[in-house]
Amino acid sequence: MFADLHLHTHFSDGTYTPEELAGHARRHGLAAVSLTDHDTVEGCARAAAACAQNQVEFITGTELTAELADYELHLLGYGIDPQHPRLLCELARFQNGRQNRIHEMVARLNAHRVPLMAEAVFRVANCRSPGRPHVARALVQEGFCRTVDEAFERFLKKHRPAWVPKVRMSAMDGIALIHAAGGVAVMAHPALNHNDGLIPIMVEAGLDGLECWHTKHSPAASEHYLALARQYHLLPTGGSDCHGLSKGRPLIGTVKLPFEHVARLKERIAERRAALVPPVTSAAH
Ligand code: AMP
Ligand code: ZN
Ligand code: FE
Ligand code: FE
Repeated sequence: MFADLHLHTHFSDGTYTPEELAGHARRHGLAAVSLTDHDTVEGCARAAAACAQNQVEFITGTELTAELADYELHLLGYGIDPQHPRLLCELARFQNGRQNRIHEMVARLNAHRVPLMAEAVFRVANCRSPGRPHVARALVQEGFCRTVDEAFERFLKKHRPAWVPKVRMSAMDGIALIHAAGGVAVMAHPALNHNDGLIPIMVEAGLDGLECWHTKHSPAASEHYLALARQYHLLPTGGSDCHGLSKGRPLIGTVKLPFEHVARLKERIAERRAALVPPVTSAAH
């Protein structure tokens, strides 16, 4: 039995609906999945219902944009209550920041004689949590770039003319927020941070897990982070970071997390929820 605990839908920068995601999960024989859309939990209710219909276990999730020592890092929150008022309030703030960032990126493109309209980006995104991939797709759709890759290379990558930093919460606040919402905090794709020195600081702040298996982790990197997870008593997790069709081929099911790690994650979620006063009563799914 295997799981894929890092998946995106069209509620952020993926292309699948929650129902399509659940269907693919079943076809890939996955025993459990989590939906980890960027800075939102909007898809969780539909994903939970669709997974139940497909006999796939569903764990609520989100991928928060956080920072530590000027590094952007992504925090996966598993088992969070998707109706938790403060979580929803914080997420709305970050979604607002993402929407303002689209306007800023478009203004910079316009200043570089690329007359893209913000409306074209919002039409492509059609979600509350838009990001650079939506700007890239709009640039292609409007004929300003041939491919999404070209859009990133010419305009959207860091140090390129339309790059705008994202609103990020401190990693400490992110961990605390996930815990307050009854969830378990996991550092996403640590190899992409290029700074393992961040890990002990996060452990000190209450980090619960480390995403050891990820599409962009080499086998050696996965082994390395598994060893660090053991050293710091962190739960090892993994997932494909599937964005549907938006990044070439769909990745769901290509990273297979052995179910024993899901079982331990679920135990930790139950512990986190039990520690809340008053306890969260809505189902963890
Ligand atoms: P954002 O959160 O708005 O900064 O956008 C980050 C998203 O853009 C992530 O899903 C990345 O995988 C994607 N991304 C970053 N660089 C590139 C690139 N060169 N080509 C395609 N997608 C990219
Ligand atoms: Zn993404
Ligand atoms: Fe990420
Ligand atoms: Fe992701």
